[in-house]
Amino acid sequence: MSSIRELHRQLTRKERSAVEITQEALERIQAVEPKLHSFLYVTADHALEQARRVDAKIAAGEEISPLAGIPIGIKDNLCTRGIPTTCGSRILENFVPPYESAVTEKLAAAGAVMVGKTNLDEFAMGSSTENSAFQVTANPWDLERVPGGSSGGSAAAVAGGECVVALGSDTGGSIRQPASLCGIVGMKPTYGLVSRYGLVAYASSLDQIGPFARTVEDAAILLGAIAGHDSRDATSLKVSIPDYASALKPDLKPRRKLKIGVIQETFGQGLDPTVEATVTKAVEQLQSLGAEIQVVSCPQFRYGLPTYYIIAPSEASANLARYDGVKYGFRAEDPDNLLSMYTGTRAQGFGAEVKRRIMIGTYTLSAGYYDAYYVKAQKVRTLIKQDFEQAFEKVDILVCPTSPTTAFKAGDKTADPLSMYLTDLMTIPVNLAGLPALSLPCGFDEQGLPIGLQLIGNVLREDLLLEVAYCYEQSTSWHQQSPLL
Ligand code: GLN
Repeated sequence: MSSIRELHRQLTRKERSAVEITQEALERIQAVEPKLHSFLYVTADHALEQARRVDAKIAAGEEISPLAGIPIGIKDNLCTRGIPTTCGSRILENFVPPYESAVTEKLAAAGAVMVGKTNLDEFAMGSSTENSAFQVTANPWDLERVPGGSSGGSAAAVAGGECVVALGSDTGGSIRQPASLCGIVGMKPTYGLVSRYGLVAYASSLDQIGPFARTVEDAAILLGAIAGHDSRDATSLKVSIPDYASALKPDLKPRRKLKIGVIQETFGQGLDPTVEATVTKAVEQLQSLGAEIQVVSCPQFRYGLPTYYIIAPSEASANLARYDGVKYGFRAEDPDNLLSMYTGTRAQGFGAEVKRRIMIGTYTLSAGYYDAYYVKAQKVRTLIKQDFEQAFEKVDILVCPTSPTTAFKAGDKTADPLSMYLTDLMTIPVNLAGLPALSLPCGFDEQGLPIGLQLIGNVLREDLLLEVAYCYEQSTSWHQQSPLL
């Protein structure tokens, strides 16, 4: 599908209607879904209704926003009023939210056309989307491989041309890693920039919603539409939102010398040699565009993974306590015994990975272990944050690979949770520090699988991140390639 800007031009010139664009997306979904399985739920009627409203506005001569009439996929952990929201879990299989998330509300107001709810790892716990209780999503570049996770459905839908852009959520890498594995742009904003009202909570001190797109400009437009203060989310920042998209220029030169820091610790052991070579080339490209490159050290980076796997399950165990079969979602009926109703609901409703996290989190928060695990992890989290603070005293942007490898085969890592966890080595520290970061395509490996470059910015420097990403993108042709399917 074309870019947002191109579709907007066609709409305002009346060359095509929003209904036609929506129908094109729905036809594409019908054609490729049997291979990709990106969507848990296609909202065709709802989409056409939204498109008709946009067409009526255009016919009435009203101005439309850039997102009006643009087909978008929504990760199925974002509540949509009257439309099922399952979180990829049996426990929410029949849950139809009575309210709308802040981001989907904003998008609907902008006239964006939601074509469906996308597949995810159950409660966003995973790195391959294989933890979904319902289906396995394929990577559009190689159907035997995973799209990454947990927002794998959104990433595959955008890469496979089923929608123009999509929303995901990123707790430890769930937007950037699937973007990398699917060869598209994915961005995790600064913690607090985007309201999480209506996002089903996984680990609340880490969760953040962000855009998937095929180009940096489309990601910038979508981010601008969803960012901003919301009194319904207590962590929401009161900041003014710049016009990210119109600030994009294809040239780094006019600005003062931009300093880019390469994170030393992310190279070497454990990194696929082709990924390493490709990312190194991308860094050279940034240098040739006028950036000054420095090597920086983040020595605590390596503690990111163990720290995350204490903090995230701790918060998850508290957040998931609400699924007790009483208020909503699945209930294992036991008319005689309340306790076995609770335990039966959870035993049958949650998948293995979710149970594992609840058990770990309950353990690390329990009286005897709280200080040894949870409090200690919080202290290490501060050290990781300080590493970034020191790095940003020297440079404006940090770069590293997004993922240590390209897309792996479905089933390859499911038996070994630790090897699955390791795929988020390079994305997790960013969430622990609350920083913005994005992944964008920087090449392909020998098997034609996409490789992602991660750019990390200082707090609220989404503008700079997008500018640098745009310059790089415009000097390459990676974003113009799409999977054959
Ligand atoms: N893979 C990581 C996890 O399972 C990150 C998931 C995410 O960002 N939602 O926790």
